[in-house]
Amino acid sequence: MRNYVIGIDVGGTNIKLGLFDSGMQLKAEQKYLTAKDASAAELIGFLSQKVDSLLDGAGLSRDDVRGVGAAFPSSVDYKRGVTLESSNIVSLNEQPVRDMLRQKLQLPVFVDNDGNVAALAEHKYGAGRGYDNLIYATLATGIGGGLILNGQLYRGMHGMAGEIGHMFVSDSTGYPCGCGVIGCVQSISSGMYMARYAMDRIKEGEESRILDYAGTLSGIDMIAVGRALQMNDPLALEVVNRGAEYLGRMFHSLNQIFDINIFVYGGGITKLGHRFMDRMIASYRHHSLIDQKYPAKFLPAELGERGEIIGAALLVP
Ligand SMILES: [Zn+2]
Repeated sequence: MRNYVIGIDVGGTNIKLGLFDSGMQLKAEQKYLTAKDASAAELIGFLSQKVDSLLDGAGLSRDDVRGVGAAFPSSVDYKRGVTLESSNIVSLNEQPVRDMLRQKLQLPVFVDNDGNVAALAEHKYGAGRGYDNLIYATLATGIGGGLILNGQLYRGMHGMAGEIGHMFVSDSTGYPCGCGVIGCVQSISSGMYMARYAMDRIKEGEESRILDYAGTLSGIDMIAVGRALQMNDPLALEVVNRGAEYLGRMFHSLNQIFDINIFVYGGGITKLGHRFMDRMIASYRHHSLIDQKYPAKFLPAELGERGEIIGAALLVP
């Protein structure tokens, strides 16, 4: 009996695999570092090999598997099973990853974007349980998301809906984004670009404890910013408030389009803590005219690091 499904999360840093039984209980999991310089064929070969080793470890074989779902850190053309623009793993640009993996594994394979699968997982098993409509946001090195509309993941015409990080929020703030636009919320409020803003301000001569925690200019990251924030460093506060302000605008625009005010959020920069999240929510409430009447709910994701493998497994029908 083909009772098992496998969920794979190909991330910019780690590759994770999870084996689930018919009741979606996690039976085994594995985690590896992503070889970012590998070719697409090498990467797919690696995934196929690790699927077999996951099954071996559980005393199972491919004959026990109903299907494999895989999430990628890029736009994904869901219908064609092709990964599009990927700033994280360049070799994945325009690759028919679904068919490549199908051929290797000789199993049904389904692929989607990492934000979409995290939205699926949080909707079914996490903070979004019981809500027919919600917007999921990953706030991390980059910003991504997924839309649950009327109880279903909404993929749009090409399977690329929910790329909320590329929402245009300013034409005077922000850096050139990977998508070619200046002023995407990702180019202002993502971990990568908040850290870059801190670095640029320090280069201009701003004194900050961020540099003490980072050690060197090029070592500035959101961990250093977060530590300086705890010490009430003025630049850290400015960096975080600026990022939070534009995220609030993003959620406000999403609310205006979809009339959804259930927002589930996950990702590394939420570790900045309540000062960051409070400021983001305050920005949303400031811009939203209807929030007093219909107060939004901002809910922290509940599935943590496993969200993507669970969601990827849920791609298998
Ligand atoms: Zn963009």
